[in-house]
Amino acid sequence: MRFTALMMAAGVAAGFGAASVAEAQGGFGPPEMTRVEVQENIYTIRNMGAGNATLLVGEEGVVLIDDKFPQDHEDIMRLVREVTDAPLLYVINTHMHPDHVGGNPAMQDVGAHVIASENARRIMAERDQPGLPSITMRDYLRIWLDDMPIDLHYFGAGHTDGDIVVHLPTESVVITGDLFALYGPYRAVIDYSAGGSLRDWTRTLERMLQLDFDTVVPGHSGTTDRQNVEGYIDYLTRTQDMVREMNAQQSSREDIQAMLESEFDWGRLEMAVGLDGVIAEMR
Ligand SMILES: [Zn+2]
Repeated sequence: MRFTALMMAAGVAAGFGAASVAEAQGGFGPPEMTRVEVQENIYTIRNMGAGNATLLVGEEGVVLIDDKFPQDHEDIMRLVREVTDAPLLYVINTHMHPDHVGGNPAMQDVGAHVIASENARRIMAERDQPGLPSITMRDYLRIWLDDMPIDLHYFGAGHTDGDIVVHLPTESVVITGDLFALYGPYRAVIDYSAGGSLRDWTRTLERMLQLDFDTVVPGHSGTTDRQNVEGYIDYLTRTQDMVREMNAQQSSREDIQAMLESEFDWGRLEMAVGLDGVIAEMR
């Protein structure tokens, strides 16, 4: 028992470390850090162990959305410098998980201002995460890259309670962070310790779908489309319904765990951060 409890604790602690994120959040990235063009002047920077970074290239400078782990900084900068010498103006943090914000200190060292939601910054400060954002927003913020607007929206809780959706209205692109992280098979990492909520997640994504866009850059996995997000909302809705129904039947924690494994592909990370929270929330 003692050993099991320790393993569980280690699993939670390592839950947002390199190896298990790659495993639990799909492992869809290429083994080498790779730059993939989404459309003109928009790229994703992808690897196996961390969340996607997205690069927006303008004349006057560069904006990066998420910056992976500290050890990824050099590879990210090399791939940025292959396409532009322009200065790094802003890094937008979609949320506070270390596989998305770990590069903040190094990015601030090269002059970038880091932007996050108020909630994400508050959680980062509580956890003594390095590289705190210097600009925060509550519901909405527009920044400009040359004449291209970059809209930041906070639509509510989901994966955490600090997730920002980045919308490029003139480009018909959204960058979702881990509000929509992966597909085939879908999974749901609901980080209740950071304010995540399965109940709110569907509504948060419905609000995102009201934006005008065709192309979706997920938090992990490759570029996809609106229909895939609709499929994910359906997955989350079915998860809500099943847990609520089993709660009503007074099913055991073990039975709900087994159902989430078999019906919804929940793995170790999903269980560690979400199982007790989802049972309590769906009562
Ligand atoms: Zn995350």
